[in-house]
Amino acid sequence: MPAVPAEAEPLDVLGVPGEINLDYAATAPCARAAADAVAELLPWYASVHRGAGALSRRCTLAYERARQTVGDFFGARADDHVIFTRNTTDALNLLARALPAGTTVVTFAGEHHANLLPWPRGSVRLPVPADSGEAVRALDAALAELRRAAQPGLPVLAAFTGASNVTGERWPVAELARVARRHGARIAVDAAQLAPHVPVDLLALDVDYLAVSGHKLYAPFGAGALIGRSDWLDAAQPYLAGGGATARVGAGTHEVTWAVGPARHEGGTPNLLGAVALAAVCDALSDADRAALHEREQRLLARLREGIAALPHVVELRTFEPDAPRVGIVSFAVAGWDSSEVAAELARKHSIGVRDGLFCAHPLAQRLLTEAATRSGRRDLPPTALRASIGLGSTEQHVDRLIAALATFA
Ligand code: PMP
Repeated sequence: MPAVPAEAEPLDVLGVPGEINLDYAATAPCARAAADAVAELLPWYASVHRGAGALSRRCTLAYERARQTVGDFFGARADDHVIFTRNTTDALNLLARALPAGTTVVTFAGEHHANLLPWPRGSVRLPVPADSGEAVRALDAALAELRRAAQPGLPVLAAFTGASNVTGERWPVAELARVARRHGARIAVDAAQLAPHVPVDLLALDVDYLAVSGHKLYAPFGAGALIGRSDWLDAAQPYLAGGGATARVGAGTHEVTWAVGPARHEGGTPNLLGAVALAAVCDALSDADRAALHEREQRLLARLREGIAALPHVVELRTFEPDAPRVGIVSFAVAGWDSSEVAAELARKHSIGVRDGLFCAHPLAQRLLTEAATRSGRRDLPPTALRASIGLGSTEQHVDRLIAALATFA
């Protein structure tokens, strides 16, 4: 049974006693606030935007209230839409489909596949930078070049991550946004890994679009969001054609007037439970002392990284300098060991869950493994890596257990 004490706080997370989850970056455990919001809805949920019954009307209100909460939490402006999606991948694919014809997207090679693969042909992929200053300079130069070469008036979108899912390193979002803005480009931030760790605000960062996943933000699976400027979204073909996305459909085959607003891209019956759970976490995080949460996480992260650094057979993967700001994610390789074997043994012998592989960021992970081998002088690093990631439910004991377990692979 999940271990949730009766007096649990909204941001306590559910878990299974004895199982150490150090894989928050893949999917974070469910926060008490989200579990409570779902439990409250279960007895009375009914259709959203479709029924006339009292329960259905109440559900429609709950769904739209969730939209407002999520928008407020991420600093949505008056002309932004909050579109509920399945996850970040879905949100970025939706944005890719809504780009005006001829849009060039500029991104970095170190992105998660969700922010590499949806973009149209002709997109520019900048090399992985050596530090955050280089990232800003590279974007500046690429956008200047595009402005010279591209047809005037064609849109440009700079799309980059807020924090790397491989290294946890934070990207200089505000600086990159400032540069993009100066060149007249729009800005999309993949906030899948940033949002669970620090406040992310569209207005404060001056970015146009944010993509987030509820399941990385302590809500259950199935709900994410694309939040951002309404004009392209309202002009685009609906992401999912069908019921709910239409204002009117006539008898003729092509006689259809699509809805304007979030509904245009939310065809089909909406995921009320997912939206409400995500909103509940947003509310709980809004009420929390996020600076204190951040400080606690940074202490645990430092303990984790110091523990790894003290193991001569374990090499950390990183793009930037060791002290660059980062969220609670560390990737590493164990010399002489296949990463999947290490992960399996951590699970079997130590009840510790981590991730192994290339983390859906193959170009970056492969490059960092090669660099790690050069930096450490170890010729026996494996071709894939391991990743430990922490969050609200992580403790010093979890970190220490991982380090002690990794020591046994010497
Ligand atoms: N971007 C980043 C930075 C991620 O870490 C992830 C998930 N690993 C995604 C996008 C995709 O998220 P999802 O699988 O929830 O669509």
